[in-house]
Amino acid sequence: MIPFNKPFFTGKETQYIQEAVQSGKISGNGDFTKRCQAWFENHYGFEKTLLTTSCTDALEMAALLIDIKPGDEVILPSYTFVSTANAFVLRGARLVFADSGPRHPNMDVAGLEKLISTRTKAIVPVHYAGMACNMDAIMALATQYNLYVIEDAAQAVDSFFLKKLSSSKEAIQKRVPLGSMGHFAAFSFHETKNIISGEGGMLVINDPEFIKRAEIIWEKGTNRAAFWRGEVDKYGWVDVGSSFLPSEVIAAFLYAQIENLDKIQKQRTAIWKRYANELNMLMDKGFAQLPVIPEYATNNAHMFYLVLDNADTRDRFIKHLKADRILSVFHYLSLHKSPYYADKHYGNELPWADHYSDCLVRLPLFYDLTTELQTKVITSVKSFFGV
Ligand SMILES: *Cc1c(COP(=O)(O)O)cnc(C)c1O
Repeated sequence: MIPFNKPFFTGKETQYIQEAVQSGKISGNGDFTKRCQAWFENHYGFEKTLLTTSCTDALEMAALLIDIKPGDEVILPSYTFVSTANAFVLRGARLVFADSGPRHPNMDVAGLEKLISTRTKAIVPVHYAGMACNMDAIMALATQYNLYVIEDAAQAVDSFFLKKLSSSKEAIQKRVPLGSMGHFAAFSFHETKNIISGEGGMLVINDPEFIKRAEIIWEKGTNRAAFWRGEVDKYGWVDVGSSFLPSEVIAAFLYAQIENLDKIQKQRTAIWKRYANELNMLMDKGFAQLPVIPEYATNNAHMFYLVLDNADTRDRFIKHLKADRILSVFHYLSLHKSPYYADKHYGNELPWADHYSDCLVRLPLFYDLTTELQTKVITSVKSFFGV
């Protein structure tokens, strides 16, 4: 069976874990945690990063940091993972769902402004498949209405927003890292993402005003991080918080992955491009839609998907590949139709979120997908359409 995903190990993980163990300190905020955080801060210019045990945790920290209270409204796409929503619902927020766009599952900024009310506190764009949302439009609305922006960058490591710097014909584009534009951003290192630590995540704090409190919330509501730096002579309970920091075992694992990021990205990109080249004809023939990379986005090769005509075709497609011993999988079920939130939803129609729920299917994409195995996938996909 060709799996949908297979975690990639660089070979250095166990060595670094052993180093962490031998150092005598394997609880959180140790040497490897600091090395990982420094790498992200230096490499992408993030103001401050904190490793967390998941992206879910990082989103929950962001919700605490912006003081979400019952009745506050948060705008997010309906076509996303439950963690994007749970983090805010846990604090009593009311969710306001944005629809996806016709060409991309990302939130459609055209419909965004009319979702803003006097109760709106934050917008949470999700960079689906690691491709940027229209951050210029989102940040402009946030500034105009005084809202927080929390980027769900779970899938978006090493991907960029291409910002136009001039309005002349030859507009200069600047590569702005995803995760560096919102007040906060949350990344995931779950084993299905590009770089991994089994479970794992990271909160990015781009507004320096929040750094001190973020460290406190991260360490169970104590000022322990400041204590370790010698800034206070004893540490105590100073705010709410939880245990959001991962152990050094996880950070050591992640550091080995970070060191190999370029190699991983190169390989994943080659696989992604081969899918695109080989399957482009499906689009020409009108059988399926292939991923569209928005003109302001880069592709970090997190995911390769097809959008088929309807749910029935997709079910038959998945069965066809399964018969060829290949696992392809659908993705999110619109949150506004979920058993938990359907009766709380405001009721705005979200046809594109429903469309991707019904019609999107993801193909196997992982570091160890050999050319031979990928050929099998491509052949099976083409045979489904009789081409
Ligand atoms: C993977 C993912 C998450 C959750 O990440 P965890 O690290 O598993 O908590 C959240 N949002 C999106 C968009 C994701 O893809």
